[in-house]
Amino acid sequence: MRTERPLAVYVHIPFCVRKCAYCDFLSFPSDPVRREAKELRGRYFDALLEEIRKIPGEYVRGRGVTSIFFGGGTPSLAESGQIAAVLSALRERFPVSEDAEISIECNPGTATTAKLRELREAGCNRLSIGVQSFSDRELAVLGRIHTRAEAEQCFLDARDAGFRNINLDLMAALPGQDETALLDNVRQAVRLSPEHLSLYSLIIEPGTPFYERYADEVPDPHYDRPLRREGRSLPDEETERAMLHAAQELLADAGYERYEISNYAVRTTDRCRQNLAYWKRREYLGIGLGAASLMEETRFSNTRDLEKYLTCAGDPEREEWEILSEQDRMEEYMFLGLRLTEGIGEADFEALFHREIDRVYGDEIRELVAQGLLVRDHGRIFLSQRGTDLANVVMARFVNS
Ligand code: SF4
Repeated sequence: MRTERPLAVYVHIPFCVRKCAYCDFLSFPSDPVRREAKELRGRYFDALLEEIRKIPGEYVRGRGVTSIFFGGGTPSLAESGQIAAVLSALRERFPVSEDAEISIECNPGTATTAKLRELREAGCNRLSIGVQSFSDRELAVLGRIHTRAEAEQCFLDARDAGFRNINLDLMAALPGQDETALLDNVRQAVRLSPEHLSLYSLIIEPGTPFYERYADEVPDPHYDRPLRREGRSLPDEETERAMLHAAQELLADAGYERYEISNYAVRTTDRCRQNLAYWKRREYLGIGLGAASLMEETRFSNTRDLEKYLTCAGDPEREEWEILSEQDRMEEYMFLGLRLTEGIGEADFEALFHREIDRVYGDEIRELVAQGLLVRDHGRIFLSQRGTDLANVVMARFVNS
């Protein structure tokens, strides 16, 4: 029997109605109705199709696609037929398993029921809705284009369109947000009963309007600048931790199991297969502007220059090309695998790297266990609750150790 290596495919759609105030993702404002903006998006989809047609044979051979993820940006800005065309181009190049997870990100205010139905008919079977908050005040601060009512309507429309696997994205530690406000958002999300929830803390990224506004409230690794502690808008670290613990408890009581630092699912089968592929270091191929790949133990990404991408005739310039050494692979295996609540299997590590984990990371693991940040139990190593709070500190121990 022929066995295919599983492959996750990511397709990047870099257009949004407008930029949110905190966003440093690779995306550009694009008017949903203006002719020039539509034409540009049309050219972009043509370039995607061309790139798919020219995927090198060595990346295709022996592989079967188990998940596809349209991310952005705002993929739900796509015009009728554009997503379906990308999916059929992918099916022409790869065997796509019958039960493949096909996810698409959608922002409220950009998808009508008819469009959602069309996406469902094209084969998308998982919808990830960028809700971020159910508070109109918080949504306005974030610079989102939608209201709470539109977010709720989007969810109901998605159900009507036949989506039975829906994720809601929520954000924590927003300016002016306290524990009660975050829990209100989480409660509202739970009331809608999505199968999956992601809850990420806001990060203040350089180059964004939020950075201008709040940079003096967050530690900056590049400057030894005194933090503003008085009159803060952002919750401090301790408050943020308490908020996240309370949200986690609420979600657990509502039947949502945390399976990764920031991700929750009702059933094991509702876990996001695409993200599991990243965390488990399976191969993935990124298509589109700036899209990242891990193929044959090499990491690379496509050019981030839109004009270059549009004119590359399906052969985008590769940036950040890095052939991973065994040391790199072991490090990644540790810091990605530890994101999952199930953690790392000692036997899995040995099977992959032909070395006992203790011979490579014995000192780090012993110290982190002694500090109460890692737990070692029945052949598995995973983050404790305190280790989850201080995940960055734990992960750093496995890089260049
Ligand atoms: S919708 Fe998402 S990708 Fe687009 S600007 Fe807002 S945060 Fe960035």
